[in-house]
Amino acid sequence: AGPFAAAQTKAKVKATPTASAADIEQRISTLLGQLTLEEKIGQLTQYSGRQLTGPASSRKTELLASIRAGAVGSMLNVQGAAGTREVQAEAMKARVPIPLLFGLDVIHGYQTVFPIPLAEAASWDLVAIRESAHVAAREAAAAGQHWTFAPMVDVGRDPRWGRVMEGAGEDTYLGAQIARARVLGFQGEKLGGTDAIMACAKHFAAYGAATAGRDYNAVDMSEQQLWETYLPPFKAAVEAGAATFMNSFNTLNGVPATGNRYLQRDILKGQWNYQGFVVSDWGSIGEMVPWGYATTPADAAQKALAAGSDMDMESDAYRNTLAQSVKDGKADIAMVDDAVRRILRKKFELGLFDDPYRFSDLKREKKVLNDPQHRVAARQMARKSVVLLKNDQNTLPLAAPRKIALIGPLAKARRDLAGSWVVIADTSQITSVYDGLTRRAGKNTQVLYAKGCEVMGDSRAGFAQAVETARAADVVVLTVGETWDMSGEAKSRTDIQLPGVQQELFQALKATGKPVVVILMAGRPLIFNTIADQADAIVYGWWPGSEGGHALADVLFGDYNPSGKLPSTFPRAVGQIPLSYQQYNTGRPVTKPGDIRYKSAYIDAPNTPRYAFGHGLSYTSFKYANLRLSQPTLTTAQTVQVQLTVTNTGQVAGEEVVQLYVHDVVASLARPLKELKDFRKLSLRPGETQTVTFTIDQSKLAFYNQKLEWAAEPGEFQLLLGSASDDIRLASSLTLLP
Ligand code: BGC
Repeated sequence: AGPFAAAQTKAKVKATPTASAADIEQRISTLLGQLTLEEKIGQLTQYSGRQLTGPASSRKTELLASIRAGAVGSMLNVQGAAGTREVQAEAMKARVPIPLLFGLDVIHGYQTVFPIPLAEAASWDLVAIRESAHVAAREAAAAGQHWTFAPMVDVGRDPRWGRVMEGAGEDTYLGAQIARARVLGFQGEKLGGTDAIMACAKHFAAYGAATAGRDYNAVDMSEQQLWETYLPPFKAAVEAGAATFMNSFNTLNGVPATGNRYLQRDILKGQWNYQGFVVSDWGSIGEMVPWGYATTPADAAQKALAAGSDMDMESDAYRNTLAQSVKDGKADIAMVDDAVRRILRKKFELGLFDDPYRFSDLKREKKVLNDPQHRVAARQMARKSVVLLKNDQNTLPLAAPRKIALIGPLAKARRDLAGSWVVIADTSQITSVYDGLTRRAGKNTQVLYAKGCEVMGDSRAGFAQAVETARAADVVVLTVGETWDMSGEAKSRTDIQLPGVQQELFQALKATGKPVVVILMAGRPLIFNTIADQADAIVYGWWPGSEGGHALADVLFGDYNPSGKLPSTFPRAVGQIPLSYQQYNTGRPVTKPGDIRYKSAYIDAPNTPRYAFGHGLSYTSFKYANLRLSQPTLTTAQTVQVQLTVTNTGQVAGEEVVQLYVHDVVASLARPLKELKDFRKLSLRPGETQTVTFTIDQSKLAFYNQKLEWAAEPGEFQLLLGSASDDIRLASSLTLLP
């Protein structure tokens, strides 16, 4: 029985499973009274424990001793029911036994890999996104985890920044909806079930706006933009009940987020009345020293605590210095106590004081990780994430070809399809495009294969064979993109062109005269102008996860009609970045195409993106009609119903994302020409018409004015309804009365 038997016995000591909030507060007070200052600071300390499940090492011995001494409150990167159980047993040997919190980056699935978060955002399907997070939580919880460092709710408008893959794209409204769906997916309505883990809204705040797209860089932004663009997804996460927040590596207007009292104490814990706790990002308390914001780790720890950072991930600054600072009167014990309370509260809510091992159940782990329903959910999510960017002459779906030439460096790739931030990289469980296509093609269709080239590198040695393979087929399917390690943390790029000679390979194949369908797989929007101009069809698959190959085959063969819409603008040139759909007219708008003299324009490229936010085609077509407003004006107390009908005018069933944009024509601050304010995803049979109703109230018209008050100003607004930000089908004006 070994360590587990000891663990089981200790587990029994703990109290009532259904403690009320008042009970919990009472018990936290009692517990706090029993802890020494060092033990309190232990609760604020988190270490990475990769070494704990590995062979003996001095770090392992040291960590286990720290845990037994009550000097650690949480561990990250300890994996598996058995591993977490063993480590928890050490914590329960402490003078005052307090269960550890186990945290892990469960970003897009645990064992079953879902599409990367940016891909999921392309589904605009909040139910599916919530389900994806739920499945990830279910698997992670069964494998001993209490806490995921997700969702990342940073708005990302710079595709040079590799972490756009982890977020929900460029838009604040869509991002806030998805933040909510993900928090609810991970946590359920309330913590305490063994299928739910704590969510962590990160990285607070403005991390996605790193200067020049270079990860960890400084951020300088107006208060107005902070409140309007970057904070709302965090606010949505608070409202959805996110148990934890993580701060960030960047400075905001000179102050590191980790030491930022304004962000953490004034806004988060003050105005938003947030009751959860804030964990630092990895080592970010210590990083305030090289930032030039703190003289020593002790100074950094004092500043971080004063600013509201409750838990120190890996920098060791709290553990090494905070007790002395309290004794010297340089750190406030009330702040330490408050941080400990916040962390203990979550341990109680998770039921860990009832049973510290409740998440570390080896039998459940085995059963849940092999639940076939999870693969089904991953395939559905992957299909919904695919965006059909182009489809000339209805090249897709493939009409029973006899021979498909499947070409490209990603055709047989598995690991790459899982993308960055995967916990279990068991590549054998990932379906490649080759697997998916051959399985679906059946007996009458032959899939020929040639690699052609690598993702990176400049060798064209494989071109000849690829061309020969293409000549022998009816249609070419070319798979190109990024390898899994090209987007993600610390993967900033100055050049987001499709890498290597992949576009040249495309041109060689195109020259055969065969129709060429391109599948792009990547962790960010890429630039691929030649392909965009010349391919017959383009499918953006992102990094689609475990079921990626099947999902892409479903789309190519028309078993699934694509419905994804871009959550990020795809630029034509790196020099356009940052480019979002939220453009301003400027005083010098380009009014006639081509006439750019003294206009706000480039002389070497259009202002327009290659593919706009919200763009995504379908195998059917939709007609928007009958726009009606319940009234043409409203007062601040009123609401207006905006109604329209959408008809599937094609031959096959399909889904459409109806997008509502608002433009405030004249205001006390110049406003963008379009802001997404609502959307609806519809599913329509051929010929079917559905009526969509949006409700407009003040909140859809408001913005942060110069005094940072969120208010709608009287005057004219345009309501724009469409299938993409650059495909507005219906428009109407609405007046807000004083
Ligand atoms: C990342 C976080 C992540 C943490 C723990 C950091 O480098 O910025 O997003 O949760 O590591 O792995």
